[in-house]
Amino acid sequence: GMPAGPPPVLTPRRKTRQFQVGSVGVGSDSPISVQSMTTTKTHDINATLQQIAELTAAGCDIVRVACPTDKDADALKIIAMKSQIPVIADIHFQPKYVFAAIEAGCGAVRVNPGNIRQFDDQVKEIAQAAKDHGTSIRIGVNAGSLDRRLLKKYGKATPEALVESAVWEASLFEEHGFHDFKISVKHNDPVVMVRAYELLAERGDWPLHLGVTEAGPAFQGTIKSATAFGALLSQGIGDTIRVSLSAPPVEEVKVGNQILESLNLRPRKLDIVSCPSCGRAQVDVYTLAEQVTEGLEGMKAPLRVAVMGCVVNGPGEARDADLGVASGNGKGQIFVKGEVIKTVPEDQIVETLIEEANRLAEEMGLT
Ligand code: SF4
Repeated sequence: GMPAGPPPVLTPRRKTRQFQVGSVGVGSDSPISVQSMTTTKTHDINATLQQIAELTAAGCDIVRVACPTDKDADALKIIAMKSQIPVIADIHFQPKYVFAAIEAGCGAVRVNPGNIRQFDDQVKEIAQAAKDHGTSIRIGVNAGSLDRRLLKKYGKATPEALVESAVWEASLFEEHGFHDFKISVKHNDPVVMVRAYELLAERGDWPLHLGVTEAGPAFQGTIKSATAFGALLSQGIGDTIRVSLSAPPVEEVKVGNQILESLNLRPRKLDIVSCPSCGRAQVDVYTLAEQVTEGLEGMKAPLRVAVMGCVVNGPGEARDADLGVASGNGKGQIFVKGEVIKTVPEDQIVETLIEEANRLAEEMGLT
């Protein structure tokens, strides 16, 4: 049966202040949100909206779009209006695009102080415009574009250097009475990144946006992000996350959601509990697990489905799950809520599990 109350987390969220990115609340009163970034040319409005729709369907909460040219800035208004999720405009170099994005109705604007010359002089006007339009800000400090003064002072992008840059920019906004911002201090090295966020978390109650930048292709990037985010989230640090992968952004969202689900920071969806297989396996567990995963893709019910290769742990795990199979002798014992409901030949295991999963989902009203 369902456990009583919310599932346990490792450490309660660090208290951070609350603000809105459009309709999405950010800060410790709100769930941790998952972000990604479009890879389309922003000025290709249809392609960008199409990708945003795919990201939304994959469980993305907030989407960032690049804004390198006038054409992109001009597209922001329609994109912000038609996107199902809040849009953050990503601005480097050109302060005029910050104002354009604010006026276009973006939920937030990401600014990189290291890349905007004379940024400090413009904070007052940016803060005022953002306030007038209910726009929030992300101060996005990045190891690759650290303020030259700090690079000189620290020699390289150390955690201390990233944090000093972030705290300085935060103080500029706060001097002008602007508090609706979150901060990121990204680095491509998870160890430096984790240390930077730990230090930053000690300096103020700003919501923090986690990211390992240039994390790499899917496999490497997934692991770097998962280990770094895990280290921080397990201390209660992190209010929004973005997994950066050299892979389609939908993959980033899937990984981000899975990281949060694994730490009970987001309600679990479908959970496939499949065994690694071993010399005892009486069925091809890899194929079976893959077919079941594929067959249940898009399942809305938070079912736990066990796919076990033999009867050693099989029945035990299958009993704990909502639904499961334990294989043996060319057959599969199908468990539903702890009871064997039937035994089917191996080639019917997948279809039977899918059938039963759909039936359970229907019972839960989640189809
Ligand atoms: Fe091996 Fe059976 Fe355990 Fe799978 S369930 S890993 S086949 S002992």
